[in-house]
Amino acid sequence: MALTKKDLKFFEELLNEKKEKLLQELGNLEASTVGKNPLEQSGDLSGYAYHLADQAADAMDREHAFAMASRESRYLLYLNEALDRVKEGTFGMCKKCRKAAHAKNPDSPWITRQRLEAVPTATLCIWHKQDADSEKSKDKD
Ligand SMILES: [Zn+2]
Repeated sequence: MALTKKDLKFFEELLNEKKEKLLQELGNLEASTVGKNPLEQSGDLSGYAYHLADQAADAMDREHAFAMASRESRYLLYLNEALDRVKEGTFGMCKKCRKAAHAKNPDSPWITRQRLEAVPTATLCIWHKQDADSEKSKDKD
């Protein structure tokens, strides 16, 4: 079912909330790994390594932090794209159903509201998503 203006507003707020939270987390991540470190500023890398080792003891190690940061940056990108789609008026549509409706999607090209609430960054309806996932597992075999 096409989303009403009210629905779009709801999802826009949901996306913005998620974005804000994510930016906050990314900020924390940065502060805990590379920020506010006097040794780093003086260019003393051996000291920096000690500092990191210390930090890894009570928090996550640097590699892990960066892996997480890159995952979160990618999610941030998805959130921004979803917000763009809200503006363009294509939010909530399955990008594959727009070209050819999926036989199982009774409401093509729309993604179900339930799915959008769970995954507001979704660009595929659940049926096309399932197809894409099974394609992927086929590749692995
Ligand atoms: Zn679809």
